[in-house]
Amino acid sequence: MTSTSIKVQGIVQGVGFRPYVYNLALQYNLKGYVNNDDRGVNILLQGFEEDINAFLKELETNPPILAKIDSLDVTQTQTETFYKTFEIIQSEQSNSKSTIISPDIAVCDDCIDDIHNSDNFRFKYALTNCTNCGPRYSIIKTVPYDRVNTSMNKFIMCEACGNEYIDPSNRRYHAQPVSCETCGPKIILLDNEDNEVCHDLCAIEQIATYIKAGNIVAIKGMGGFHIICDATNEHSVDELRIRKNRPDKPFAIMFKDINNLKEYAKLTHAEEEIILSKEKPITLVKRIKTPKLARNVAPNIDRIGVFLPYTPLHIILFEYLDNPIVATSANLSNEPIIRSKDELMDKLGNVVDYVLDFNRDIINACDDSVVQSINDEIFVMRNARGFAPTSIKLPKKVNKKILAIGANQKNTIALAFEDNLILSPHVGDLNSISSMDYFKRTIETFKRFYDFEPEVIICDKHPNYETTKWATYECSQKHLELVQVQHHYAHVLATMAEHNLDEKVLAFAFDGTGFGDDGKIWGGEVFIADKNEYERIYSLDYFKLLGSEKAVREPKRVALSLLFDTYSFEEVLSLDCPTVHHFNDSELKVMHTVWERELNAPYSSSIGRLFDAVASLAGIAHEQSYEGETGLKLEQLYDWHRAQAYEYEIVDGRIDIKKAIRAMVEDNESSVIATKFINMLSNIIVDISLQHESLPIILTGGVFQNKTLLELTSKRLEVLEKRYYYSSKVPINDAGIAVGQIYSQL
Ligand code: ZN
Ligand code: FE
Repeated sequence: MTSTSIKVQGIVQGVGFRPYVYNLALQYNLKGYVNNDDRGVNILLQGFEEDINAFLKELETNPPILAKIDSLDVTQTQTETFYKTFEIIQSEQSNSKSTIISPDIAVCDDCIDDIHNSDNFRFKYALTNCTNCGPRYSIIKTVPYDRVNTSMNKFIMCEACGNEYIDPSNRRYHAQPVSCETCGPKIILLDNEDNEVCHDLCAIEQIATYIKAGNIVAIKGMGGFHIICDATNEHSVDELRIRKNRPDKPFAIMFKDINNLKEYAKLTHAEEEIILSKEKPITLVKRIKTPKLARNVAPNIDRIGVFLPYTPLHIILFEYLDNPIVATSANLSNEPIIRSKDELMDKLGNVVDYVLDFNRDIINACDDSVVQSINDEIFVMRNARGFAPTSIKLPKKVNKKILAIGANQKNTIALAFEDNLILSPHVGDLNSISSMDYFKRTIETFKRFYDFEPEVIICDKHPNYETTKWATYECSQKHLELVQVQHHYAHVLATMAEHNLDEKVLAFAFDGTGFGDDGKIWGGEVFIADKNEYERIYSLDYFKLLGSEKAVREPKRVALSLLFDTYSFEEVLSLDCPTVHHFNDSELKVMHTVWERELNAPYSSSIGRLFDAVASLAGIAHEQSYEGETGLKLEQLYDWHRAQAYEYEIVDGRIDIKKAIRAMVEDNESSVIATKFINMLSNIIVDISLQHESLPIILTGGVFQNKTLLELTSKRLEVLEKRYYYSSKVPINDAGIAVGQIYSQL
């Protein structure tokens, strides 16, 4: 008997793939079966050829909403069995695990209807989900994705849920986290000493009352807890800033719905689509100046990070709330997001007044994703909930199992086996013991998911990165091959990987910090590169970071250093410049000595630090309390009607900006300085591109998160009909480094 066998790989489990296939087979009157194994989904079909072809066409063009098909292999086989029906059969176990694990997805419209419908048995049930939505990655212990392998294993389904679970025509067929009020996880409200206040719906109603009254609370989300307060209550937000010791860094804001959000932010069509998408990421948008939003939610910044409710619990919460809420990840600074009530009480018991918890455990923590719209397309800056784990098909198979562990800031890890690349969700900055624990736990989780033992580990070249130390130790202990890839070359490769490029490119790596091949701190690099090698053809002229790490927190130190490079000490003392005014005479003397004798003053070519310096010269930021602050502040002063730019020179391969520094001091007006500076950076890119007509252009590195710089440069390169690329799915910042590290081995 001739049968058609189909193997499907990609995100095909936990997304309603088998019932979809089942219903499709019935529709075309086909017999056979569908099953899952740990490589994906297998289908066997018997029937008329035209029906099989129609089935395949439908499968390829209209797969289930959450599925992502990476490969579809169709073969003709001979079978002994003649099937009389089409059936879904039990999961098969095999040896190699390569099923892609689905990210967590925001509650779908059908589930929202269920919780709003008083006749439905899930009316106001806060943990409602189905095959098209809800938790995946965050509740999985191991594959295959079956209920026993998730944190739902301790809940026994009631009859009503059980009937849906086994009915292939039901939306909850094999939805592993399916549950209801009767059989599922329960909501509980606690005070900050762990005493129960109330439970179930009362708990949500009550916590809304507390938020309205100005309290600071914690609420369990999908991949971790949020700390929440009323975003229109200045006093609550102030109190939160004091308790969390977070003076300025903007908070993300969750809104009841898109109409309410539009009272606070001016959205483009593209931004609205991103905010409403099934991933519901935090999206950076332009705020409307309204007195309704507490001033201190995002001090002195014209943009806000906004998102919509993405769990049924949030939806129900907003039935009792009208105002937007601050919803920030619950963590101690430099630590990962908290995923259990006990840890929350332990670490943040003094920050929050009440805690809303439920007993569906989070196995794998996962932060909210953060994105913006660049050139009207989504541009991911923090790749997490909704998007990660991210699977990328490689253009060819790797011959070894590779683990890439990224950089030290915005860490993510990536695995490569066969032609799969799996990128982990955002792990974060590795500046604490608990963040290193989270890093190691993430590696263990992914090794378990994919039955993966690396043969090669790739890390950065920075000798002091925790990741480098970990990789060196791990490789020496386990006798594995260690590969180190230069930071900015990895940025270039990450962007090449997203666009599947295998040719020579002209790459601009504009970044904060990265260890250079000469031991200096790079970050303003121009390379000619391909997958095998790179040549640094230009770089920003080195300047000294007075006080090293301190210079990152104090942009005025970088600015002063550039002034010392440009003028004599006596001239600096007499300048009418905000930077100089920000130091007293004895500080200026000390700084000059540091500069002159190069005491704790490493050399850097970082454009990120240059942004800091310019913000100080423009008088808008002499200190900064979070990364990217100076860029955001300069951007909001940018004037699209002003075409002038500062001048620069290229001398012996070094981009010399002393003329620009002099002109900035003379201009003495912040908006003019911001505009002419950003225009100069764009000129540098365009001018050098014109010298290398034949090469495609890569724009990469954290500096290109600057929407103004990237959109301006894109427009100009488009006018010139240049072929240019930047990465938008793989983060352009250090969170993409692991992808570039893998690509170096292809
Ligand atoms: Zn139930
Ligand atoms: Fe970087």
